[in-house]
Amino acid sequence: MKKIHLVSLGCAKNLVDSEQMLAMFPRDEFSVTSSPEEADLIIVNTCGFIESAKKESLDTIFEMAGYNAKLVVTGCLAQRYEEDLRRELPEADDIIAIHDYNDFPSRLNALLGDTHIAHFSPMRRVLTTSKGCCYIRISEGCNNFCAFCAIPRIRGTFVSRPYNEIIEEAKTLKEKGIKEISLISQDTTVYGMDYEGHRPNIVDLLKGLEEVGFFSIRLLYLYPSEISDELIEYIASSKTVAHYFDIPVQAASDHMLSAMRRHADAKETIELFEKIKRICPDAVLRTTLISGFPGENEEDQREAVEMLKRIEFDHMGVFPYSREEDTVGYYLENQIEEEVKLARKDELMKIQRPISYKKNRALLGKEMDGIVIGRMKDGRYGVRTYWNAPDDIDGEIYLETKESLEEGDLVRIKIEESYVYDLIASLKERL
Ligand code: SF4
Repeated sequence: MKKIHLVSLGCAKNLVDSEQMLAMFPRDEFSVTSSPEEADLIIVNTCGFIESAKKESLDTIFEMAGYNAKLVVTGCLAQRYEEDLRRELPEADDIIAIHDYNDFPSRLNALLGDTHIAHFSPMRRVLTTSKGCCYIRISEGCNNFCAFCAIPRIRGTFVSRPYNEIIEEAKTLKEKGIKEISLISQDTTVYGMDYEGHRPNIVDLLKGLEEVGFFSIRLLYLYPSEISDELIEYIASSKTVAHYFDIPVQAASDHMLSAMRRHADAKETIELFEKIKRICPDAVLRTTLISGFPGENEEDQREAVEMLKRIEFDHMGVFPYSREEDTVGYYLENQIEEEVKLARKDELMKIQRPISYKKNRALLGKEMDGIVIGRMKDGRYGVRTYWNAPDDIDGEIYLETKESLEEGDLVRIKIEESYVYDLIASLKERL
């Protein structure tokens, strides 16, 4: 029996790829190990999105090269720098770029001898997320070509995943005990835009998924200017789709939005959030901003501060701009110094803190339904409700109870304490 160790870096989309990779290995020939020292094959599924992610990927490759296993590098870094890595990373036994994922069986057999490794398929996954929860990818690539982002060059232009394939996968996941799904892609809003008549669209897909019977469905990565009234109204009226709007705006001023080649202007962006609040008053709003894009000035920063104060997002993340080759932003003059990017990021986080605190205070005494996502060393449980997405931007909900619960249990909780980012809850009942 051969052993595989896989390190998955970067975002949830890459994690889904990692889960599909693990499913290629037949169980009677391979087992998965969390210890690289006992592995026969180590796969590092890299991220190549921004500078810090590239560094983490390279550090991990060098660390894994120290073990006595065949080493394969996959993912966005492999796709973006395939030739450079081949030349400069003799430690890797193979570099398999995303466009070569169909070749996995032959490429891996060349390293491991004759095995029965299956093809990489979106319909086969080994889930690695907390019990009862998982991601479903609904499209690949992006057509937006934002000036800071290399994703379209790495993952290609936008292609919707076939509707029937998504529904079929969702049914299989439901049968396996999945209760909560998060729909992911580079741009979730425009699902179906590449179909004739642009249907089925994202609302049609949500309707189809609701019929499968999940406890909760969450949409992630909505592009602001593509969000239709139909989508907002559908989410607002749904009992299954989380009233959660994850809308990365990246910038607040017309000057920066246009430099970033985003499609909406500042006024339209503000109006969108105000419309969501009107149509869906209990909506959780989340955004991300980039600090220090080339040419950003104090006036742009002031407009970002004003937007945060006006919209009052429930969750907000800021990322310092990373200058990426092959993007428009790379060639712009007036690149901003690192200290300025970090200072502006800190200022925005400081503005957000009391807003988050105020929003969390308003939840005191409120009851929410959620899913238990694990237990901490201190005995408390982690719970996910419509309020927090499964990633690092939102805060945590800690459940304090003497009852014994399992990961994946559905519970009704009551918010008892609130902090700047986290909430503490008691158990009302099991669902
Ligand atoms: S919409 Fe997102 S993935 Fe697409 S180019 Fe812009 S930042 Fe990148």
